[in-house]
Amino acid sequence: MTENGGGETQKWKFKGNEALTKASGITVRGVLDMLMDNLNPDDNRLLLRLGHGDPSHFPCFYTTPSAEYAVVDALRSRQFNCYSSSVGILPARQAVAEYLSRHLPNKLSPDDVFLTLGCTHAIEVALSVLAHPGANILLPRPGYPYYEAMSSYIGLENRHFNLLPEKGWEVDLDAVEALADENTVAMVIINPGNPCGNVYTYEHLQKVAETAKKLGILVIADEVYEHLTFGNNPFVPMGVFGHTVPVLTLGSISKRWIVPGWRVGWLVTNDTQGILQESGLVESITSFLNISSDPATFIQGALPQIFENTNEEFFSKIKKTLGQGADLCYGEIKGIPCFTCPSKPEGSMFVMVKLNLCLLSDIQNDLDFCKKLAKEENMVILPGSAVGMKNWVRITFAVEPSTLEQGLERIKAFSLSHAK
Ligand SMILES: *Cc1c(COP(=O)(O)O)cnc(C)c1O
Repeated sequence: MTENGGGETQKWKFKGNEALTKASGITVRGVLDMLMDNLNPDDNRLLLRLGHGDPSHFPCFYTTPSAEYAVVDALRSRQFNCYSSSVGILPARQAVAEYLSRHLPNKLSPDDVFLTLGCTHAIEVALSVLAHPGANILLPRPGYPYYEAMSSYIGLENRHFNLLPEKGWEVDLDAVEALADENTVAMVIINPGNPCGNVYTYEHLQKVAETAKKLGILVIADEVYEHLTFGNNPFVPMGVFGHTVPVLTLGSISKRWIVPGWRVGWLVTNDTQGILQESGLVESITSFLNISSDPATFIQGALPQIFENTNEEFFSKIKKTLGQGADLCYGEIKGIPCFTCPSKPEGSMFVMVKLNLCLLSDIQNDLDFCKKLAKEENMVILPGSAVGMKNWVRITFAVEPSTLEQGLERIKAFSLSHAK
């Protein structure tokens, strides 16, 4: 209530949606902003941001000029100034179908492809079409907190299975079976993994598919880091198992092309048996897209050329830089007593590191570690609590090599000065 000029009180009938505040809970952005507020303004050293995963600012991660030309050409052609259709324009759907089919045993059709505003929107679509009263979904821990936030908001119940650090962060499939009940609709896997840098083998993915089939649930495969691998395991798309279990593959060009601001992604049905069609899920996807927004038409129009004209050298250069970052990180972490890293990352842009608090004198938990690190060393890393793992931290190695080197030196100095 507010006083108006005449001394009477005016009553307004609107207010913020509390369900949103409740659902968003701990977010990566929120935690990182809080840490930024903890920096010491008198520290003149370069601020090092090893907390979030957006390498697009760093020269060694600039996107390929061929992708930029594709956008310019699409824009200047004047063919894409129009509204898009709600599922995406046909040439773009066709291009995504062909691009993904390169690594699948069967060919996708454009009808299997729905274009979205980045992978984030694809997650929103996937969860929304599955939400019915009482339904629950199985999510990985650690994971990508947008899933928790969105699924709570739309009324799905979240249940968590662990990823096993000692097994290369594989899914604890026994836990999946134990968690599932009559109302379970889907399980989510993120491969290559954020936040763990894991890359699953064909055999493990096959077991995931068989478990999901046994439980009668679908697999949501977040493959936003597809092909960003630099270890022993090659990337295997979950869609390879689309004959065993229906798979919704989510992806975008944000990470592989390092253009997260372009906002184009996809949701793709990998389902050779037509189960998703039969169950009405495909219709729900179309209906949801009818009431949500579309990626800019000229970005969609650029997709065929982006896929066609990006050469292998660009991808190998990025993978090499990421691989070197992972090596450096893993090597340096070994020399920091209060850190344990169970496995060297083989993909994506992140590594999870366990804090051995008993070796530190005055650190309460992961959040406290990151707060004090921000204050004393002018740098930001992500507390594991933000991704579901208390007393761990997530470090991104997708930064300039010199930034990473300095960052690891500062973490080391910080750990020594707080050692027992
Ligand atoms: C970055 C990321 C996304 C979001 O991708 P956008 O295309 O930028 O929307 C989705 N899932 C995971 C696991 C991510 O790391």
